[in-house]
Amino acid sequence: MKDNEFDTIVIGAGNGGLTAALTLQKKGKKVLLLDKGRVPGGFASSFVRGRFEFEASLHELCEYGDESNPGEVYEIFKELGIAKSLETKIIPETFCVYETSTNSYYEMPIGEEKFLEKMESYVPNSKESMTIFFSLCKEVQAAFKYFNETKGHPDSQVLMEKFPRFMVVAPYPVEKVLKEIKMPLRARQILETYWSYLGSPASKLSFAHYASMIYSYIIKGPVILNKNSHQISLALSEEFENSGGTVKYLTGVREILVNNNEVEGIITKDNQKFLTKHIISNISPNVVFEKLIKKENVPLRANQLLNTRILGARGICIYLGLNKTMEELGLKNYSYFIYQTLNSDIEYKRMHSIYNGNLVATLKNYGKDSSILCITSLVFGDEFTRLVNKENYFEIKEKIAEHFVSSFEKNLNVNIKDAIEEIEIATPLTFARYGGHPDGVIYGYLATSYDNLLPRIMTEEQEIFIKGLRFCGGFGSRLSGYSSAYINGHQEALKTLGEDF
Ligand SMILES: Cc1cc2nc3c(=O)[nH]c(=O)nc-3n(C[C@H](O)[C@H](O)[C@H](O)COP(=O)(O)OP(=O)(O)OC[C@H]3O[C@@H](n4cnc5c(N)ncnc54)[C@H](O)[C@@H]3O)c2cc1C
Repeated sequence: MKDNEFDTIVIGAGNGGLTAALTLQKKGKKVLLLDKGRVPGGFASSFVRGRFEFEASLHELCEYGDESNPGEVYEIFKELGIAKSLETKIIPETFCVYETSTNSYYEMPIGEEKFLEKMESYVPNSKESMTIFFSLCKEVQAAFKYFNETKGHPDSQVLMEKFPRFMVVAPYPVEKVLKEIKMPLRARQILETYWSYLGSPASKLSFAHYASMIYSYIIKGPVILNKNSHQISLALSEEFENSGGTVKYLTGVREILVNNNEVEGIITKDNQKFLTKHIISNISPNVVFEKLIKKENVPLRANQLLNTRILGARGICIYLGLNKTMEELGLKNYSYFIYQTLNSDIEYKRMHSIYNGNLVATLKNYGKDSSILCITSLVFGDEFTRLVNKENYFEIKEKIAEHFVSSFEKNLNVNIKDAIEEIEIATPLTFARYGGHPDGVIYGYLATSYDNLLPRIMTEEQEIFIKGLRFCGGFGSRLSGYSSAYINGHQEALKTLGEDF
């Protein structure tokens, strides 16, 4: 094989791209990993302001667990040789949610039994439906495991025999299934708190997808690691290079070469040409089909799919370095969900406006005398793009920060502003610049009632419109989030291995 020829080229060193590249390299393939950025990780990164190093995006990791109770991501990191360097810290509560319109506050613990009991104390007579919910979750997780083992080609007979209840609930959204099992409204709403992590309201969000995620959080706990996401990205990238892989940063891809509906290679922005028959793209199909492949080589079906899929949530994030500890601020929890109501459909609609007051915040101590508060809010639709122009960008950024910091202060009855030592504000423009995704989307495509996790896994192979071109990461079939992106990158690599080389 010539120097500029590779078994596989991975475009983008975000979470999905990193696990895809490393998996193939460890399986003995010659892999080239390219990223337009200076460092690996994409959103999985960090930045420094003053004496604070801010985590850019990783607030809670799902599906990780630890050595004694390993989740899928832990198993992948172990296989890829980086699990040993990571220690896990399980966050002691699953979540705290605050409903501002009624002044109600719920704090949910880790562990099936404890969660059940706490829910019963908040919502009497919820225990029976919660018990049914947990048993459904177990079956859903087992069914997903089977889907993975069969690489998305399950035997329908096995599905019917081994996972009959999964087959019943799989086509339906969260709201419908929870209503069917007669869960009281308030219990349903508390349980649906994490909807904003998947960026779709409970009436649209796949029950199977949500159940699998929340059950993992409830039994294994949300995890933070001893290393920030930048260090994890570096560990994956270094392991890739140590295993003989070639990585090139500051090397954006300008064109994907296609001939007779098969990939042939890529051309970088600085005009280097690399040849391959297998490309795994960690960047969105929108960018690939609209910008990187010549129009005449883009199959009609690819365009049809792009026109059908809806871009997911955009993000706003306010990073605050505070000169007080959590204790001094009077706050004891790590994560806070603040919604005006616990009705996700109402809130999803409200979140089409930027100044919606809804937020997810994480807070942890930083050294002995300080803390870092990170406030994230999702925005749907294009209001940000319509409001912002060159002249008013900084003014709007500050207004947004003022709005969300005030919402946090007012609802938790704390004073944050007097403790601010450093502040950084990221908008959809910031995320568009770093991730390279359209409109600053941070959550891939919206999961809708007919286009969610299961259909995407089931139809993934039919979405290979150009031979040798696969996608991984937040815009891939497992949807967005750290664990989804890591797992999806690993899976796409294994599927690539199954193709002809
Ligand atoms: C503020 C924020 C908070 C979040 N919080 C959480 C959380 O707590 N838990 C969680 O699970 N998830 C969270 N997420 C989501 C999570 O970060 C993403 O789902 C995940 O990191 C996406 O990974 P990816 O594989 O899609 O790669 P991305 O991070 O999207 O990376 C894509 C890579 O492609 C590169 N690229 C783009 N164009 C080109 C080109 N032409 N040539 C070469 N390279 C290119 C980019 O430079 C980038 O490195 C958060 C996201 C944000 C923004």
